[in-house]
Amino acid sequence: MLIDSYDRVVDYLRVSVTERCNFRCQYCMPEKPFSWVPKENLLSFEELFEFMKIAIDEGVNKIRITGGEPLLREDLDKFIKMIYDYKNDVDLAMTTNAFLLKGTAQKLKDAGLKRINVSIDTLKPEIAQQIAQKDVLKNVLQGVDEALKVGLKVKVNMVPMKTVNAEEIIDVLEYCKERNMSIRFIEYMENSFASKEIKGLKSNELLEILGSKYEFKDDGFDGSSPSHYYTMKDGYRFGIIEPYEDDFCKKCNRIRLTAEGNLIPCLYFDESLSISKAIKAGDIKEAAEVLREVVRTKPEKNRWGGDDAEVSTRAFYETGG
Ligand code: SAM
Ligand code: SF4
Repeated sequence: MLIDSYDRVVDYLRVSVTERCNFRCQYCMPEKPFSWVPKENLLSFEELFEFMKIAIDEGVNKIRITGGEPLLREDLDKFIKMIYDYKNDVDLAMTTNAFLLKGTAQKLKDAGLKRINVSIDTLKPEIAQQIAQKDVLKNVLQGVDEALKVGLKVKVNMVPMKTVNAEEIIDVLEYCKERNMSIRFIEYMENSFASKEIKGLKSNELLEILGSKYEFKDDGFDGSSPSHYYTMKDGYRFGIIEPYEDDFCKKCNRIRLTAEGNLIPCLYFDESLSISKAIKAGDIKEAAEVLREVVRTKPEKNRWGGDDAEVSTRAFYETGG
């Protein structure tokens, strides 16, 4: 079992398979980075899988494939099948912008994927174009329909932003509710890569908007999920991710692996250790030692909130959110 210095069990690994993306979301990657990680520095699926086997053997039981946009990487279904075949009871999911999902959902489902999280910030084509800087909404919604059709469980992530999509909070929730998909509102996390104009809504502002239409009760937190849950009168549940809250990191159970093999103990901070050399050399013992070291050095909490709050300098498209 992997336990950090604050007695938190680390059993969740997020794996970014590429930092590249076909969108340029204002809160994540408004401009193409100065340079991408050179292809030769990326770990192959076999190499990523070698590390994931070590992590699973050390106690990881939840894996999320993410990016950049994970569907940009070829043969993703084969990668998913490798993981599924190694341990089919690992909770395996993927976060995607859904643009390419229409043509891939069935293959991913057949490979063993059960759940996906899709980012939907708006239901208006022109606002989607404004956020992603591309005409994306039609493909995204078709991707979601296809995912539901093939039997993938779909959760939606929405980042509510003032003057951009705040008016659509109820509409997006209703869209999800009608399709039996849960929704999590993610507070915009300030980072130096995002557009300077972005102003996110905090949970109290969100709750005020939702409270103007619905009655709901505060359900608090569930296990190690970062979501604060609320249940509406008809039983529908929504979540809010509140990284600015003081106790947000208390039950954090996750670490992150980038596509070039950097293992990151916390989404907020720049620190990481590379497993690339050890994995490429087939040195399982050394890779496991790096894993334990990253868990040991996991910081107590992020610095988005509190008196010494600062903007993070870590790119979301690199860590996978
Ligand atoms: N491309 C995929 C997608 O957009 O779903 C996966 C990668 S993306 C980095 C993962 C998640 O991070 C998305 O739900 C996105 O909305 C969220 N995200 C990105 N930048 C963020 C920010 N500055 N604050 C809050 N959430 C952010
Ligand atoms: Fe791409 Fe996802 Fe970042 Fe948007 S949030 S730019 S879709 S990685």
